[in-house]
Amino acid sequence: MTIQKAQNITWHPGHVTREERAALLGQRPCCLWFTGLSACGKSTIAMALEQVLIQRGYVAYVLDGDNIRHGLNKNLGFSPEDRAENIRRIGEVAKLFVDAGLIVITSFISPYREDRDKVRALMHAGEFVEVFVDAPVEVCGARDPKGLYQKALRGEITNFTGVSPDAPYEEPLAPEIHLRTDQLPVDECVAKLLSYLEDNGYLLGGVRNVR
Ligand code: ADP
Repeated sequence: MTIQKAQNITWHPGHVTREERAALLGQRPCCLWFTGLSACGKSTIAMALEQVLIQRGYVAYVLDGDNIRHGLNKNLGFSPEDRAENIRRIGEVAKLFVDAGLIVITSFISPYREDRDKVRALMHAGEFVEVFVDAPVEVCGARDPKGLYQKALRGEITNFTGVSPDAPYEEPLAPEIHLRTDQLPVDECVAKLLSYLEDNGYLLGGVRNVR
């Protein structure tokens, strides 16, 4: 439980509803929460999906692990407590972006089920879409685009998810979408995500068609 430190604070409701913001953008806002091991393909697929959505007139935005750790969360490391706080803050930011009407794509390992479920609980029904980006650790270790698995195996990185015994990855039990990136190429993963968004009523024409 995060403690509420400040006292004497009041929530100020605005004059614009979330429905009005969503209608203006021609989309049903949501958070596509990508979770999976390092190098499973989260960032690659997130950036590709964001690009296609923007090209089609939908307002999408990626919150990416390393990028957020450069700024908002630069004071956090990889201990279990810091990982939980990392995800809590990102969850709150994602919630604000969803409230603003966006399709948010978050790209974080987010290894703990409890932390992900807490973010789901922050949002309205249907707004949190868990996407399990799944490849075996051997495949991720062979890809290793940032050389992190090599460093972890040499003992130069501790708390490395999936490699260090003290940093387990807890697979989602019932993700809305499961992408096997060792079997599906990037464009097919993006197509699967787009189909989910289409089929579940998130894509309502986009900004270009709302006049
Ligand atoms: P993460 O964000 O999960 O750490 P990245 O997207 O940074 O992972 O890296 C994944 C690597 O795997 C990239 O080099 C990417 O080109 C490669 N890759 C191979 N096949 C796929 C796939 N089907 N989906 C996503 N990435 C893939």
